Amino acid sequence: MRILDDVKLDYQDVLLRPKRSTLSSRKDVLIERSFTFYHSPKKWTGVPIMTANMATCGTFEMAHIFSKYKMITTFHKYYSIDDYVRFFKTFNNPDYICYTTGIREQDIKQLKLMKNKGLLDKFSFICIDVPNGYLQTFLDDIKIVRKMCPKHIIIAGNVVTNEITEEIILAGADIVKIGIGPGAACTTRKMTGVGYPQLSAVIECADSAHGLSNERGVGRIIADGGQQYTSDIAKAFCGGADFNMCGSLFSGFEQSNGETIEKEGKKYKEYFGSSSNKAMEEFYGKKEKHRASEGRYTLIPYKGDIHEFLQDLFGSLRSTATYIGARQLKEFPKRATFVKVNRQLTSYLEKYDTGE
Ligand code: 5GP
Repeated sequence: MRILDDVKLDYQDVLLRPKRSTLSSRKDVLIERSFTFYHSPKKWTGVPIMTANMATCGTFEMAHIFSKYKMITTFHKYYSIDDYVRFFKTFNNPDYICYTTGIREQDIKQLKLMKNKGLLDKFSFICIDVPNGYLQTFLDDIKIVRKMCPKHIIIAGNVVTNEITEEIILAGADIVKIGIGPGAACTTRKMTGVGYPQLSAVIECADSAHGLSNERGVGRIIADGGQQYTSDIAKAFCGGADFNMCGSLFSGFEQSNGETIEKEGKKYKEYFGSSSNKAMEEFYGKKEKHRASEGRYTLIPYKGDIHEFLQDLFGSLRSTATYIGARQLKEFPKRATFVKVNRQLTSYLEKYDTGE
């Protein structure tokens, strides 16, 4: 048994120290980025924020909206080939959509069919998504998908430590998805005791991914889950995340998936994890016996129109930039100084927010 002594950090454990800035207006801040990748020959430009591949936000409806903002929609795994054929009758913007696959036999079968029908060419990104990216077989699966799709930008995860981040990139992924347990619908930490404070995971994995480079580009990471506020997205970028992926932040809107429910005069929307009983029952017809549910089902207050929220999100990122003196998103890590704070302060603010 070993104990690692240094304290690791979550988003709530830090604030950003303000710095002298030469910016005169928030409008001058560039929140788009352009990336090249370690394996894929593609070059991508956009706002590097994406929906989680969850049933509540990784949807066709979201793709129509997010692509207008140059943001990515990562589709949930439950769409069929026929669903995609219908979707592509009204959508053609590969740069802002990501196909998600698992590594089960039926997932790989659908991936092959998608490729044979020419449907994968309509995506720039493919996400190979497993809850536990530490299984040796996962690296073999990444190699198989890379061979099948040499040009795609391949995302793979989830993991939270630096050595495996490097291994996943070397196996064929361009971007590693970082996060075990921080998600709002995730019960992994409670069920298994496994996890890693998210901001430290992002900082450490970004460092090792960015250390891998070749003539095409460098290794990249996504900070996946745990962003409760728009400021957490800014903190993840400051910690070195190339992309942010969010589930609960993009759920609960008029345009999000899930039933709207009225209770005591207030409106709520459903939010549930990809491996919650609700998702397993709804999409696979039943809960699989050998799998414990590591996701929760909950109702979140109805948030209205997502366009307003996205405007606010862009505004808050630009505002962070002016406080830390960054002219563009790319400069966030260079300009950021984190101050460790007493968690009691941030939990007090959370209570204040919900009016408790
Ligand atoms: P959020 O932004 O809601 O805090 O986190 C979204 C992330 O939570 C997803 O991208 C995914 O990594 C993770 N997640 C979503 N559903 C589940 C689930 O059912 N179980 C677990 N362990 N993680 C989940």
